[in-house]
Amino acid sequence: MSGFRTLDQADVKSKRVLLRVDLNLPMENGRISDATRIERIVPTIRELTGKGARVILLAHFGRPKNGPDEENSLKPIAAALPEHLGAPVAFASDCIGAIAQDAVAKLKDGEILLLENTRFHKAEEKNDKDFVASLAKLGDLYVNDAFSAAHRAHASTEGLAHVLPAFAGRGMQAELEALTKALETPNRPVAAIVGGAKVSTKLELLGNLSKKVDFIIIGGGMANTFLAAQGHKVGKSLCEHDLLDTAREIVAKAKAAKCEIVLPSDAVAAKEFKAHAPSRVTDVGHVQDDEMILDMGPRSTVEVEKILSACKTLVWNGPFGAFELQPFDAGTNAVAKTAAALTQKGALVTVAGGGDTVSALNQSGAAEHFTYISTAGGAFLEWLEGKVLPGVEALRIKSN
Ligand code: AMP
Repeated sequence: MSGFRTLDQADVKSKRVLLRVDLNLPMENGRISDATRIERIVPTIRELTGKGARVILLAHFGRPKNGPDEENSLKPIAAALPEHLGAPVAFASDCIGAIAQDAVAKLKDGEILLLENTRFHKAEEKNDKDFVASLAKLGDLYVNDAFSAAHRAHASTEGLAHVLPAFAGRGMQAELEALTKALETPNRPVAAIVGGAKVSTKLELLGNLSKKVDFIIIGGGMANTFLAAQGHKVGKSLCEHDLLDTAREIVAKAKAAKCEIVLPSDAVAAKEFKAHAPSRVTDVGHVQDDEMILDMGPRSTVEVEKILSACKTLVWNGPFGAFELQPFDAGTNAVAKTAAALTQKGALVTVAGGGDTVSALNQSGAAEHFTYISTAGGAFLEWLEGKVLPGVEALRIKSN
């Protein structure tokens, strides 16, 4: 991968490798409810141990307020890691100082150690120089495999990259390659699907995408605001009536940048926001006062599928409807399946991300056929918004 140092350039044999990973896992009653983030770091850890590195895992967990607390300890996660890695994992109850140093000193080539939550020290989030130095003492090299934390300039996500030889792990590399392929050097035409609840949370996203893509297909509750801005009645649909001028400005700016904004032409409308509420398909101009739009209609679905068939790249954030409530997941599911089929044929590069989007695409069964699904949430969105991610920038090869 150009621009970044990867494990291809790292000589790790017998070296102490400080590996920043994302272990901020969803937990329910003290148990891991979704281990996707562990699965994502397995390749990097296996490669490093396979090459004889001494792997020291650094991670944060939750938002501890006042130093160490049991609720935010990584200890239960250390206990769960061996099952996924097929190797034992030692644990140290602090990430700096004598406890960490002793644990690191005991590591042999090919062994793995997890250090306690970096956020138990306030200095982590302050990117404090002395704290960075205390962490750096533990390693010879720094590898960052936590793209999802790269929008934060913390000691373990950014600071370390300036004081140790720094490399992107395989997960970080895959994310950067997918995002570059989707937005920086894409095959055109490029379509973006921007759906979800509200325009107000996606203003920066729409602004940046309109400069980079050929079509922005708007879905979900946010489409209602755009429809209302065109003078359509949207009944009691989710709609930000105070943003109609903003919606009109977005459309005008996109047009000036030669980006077409695509809105639904028909809708599935219901009188109640609940699963299996009686519903009907209607043109967007004919929504009644007591109805709300909960999904796009079948004609809009076909229109979206037609655009995707003519495109070479798709970036997707946000569902087309209230996908948690059946049958209002139909539009999202249909487009997801079409995008997956085009990907499988080699006709479309598909990159999707953002919390609800990942659940919606998993629910449709299409996710596994997408080119890349980002689980990074905030960092993924900030990249799509065109923002600089400090943790990524720090890994860039500088030309002197
Ligand atoms: P976001 O987090 O902005 O991507 O929004 C995702 C949420 O938008 C999901 O919980 C969907 O149920 C919701 N959503 C999508 N379309 C609609 C709609 N037409 N009416 C109400 N909620 C919607």
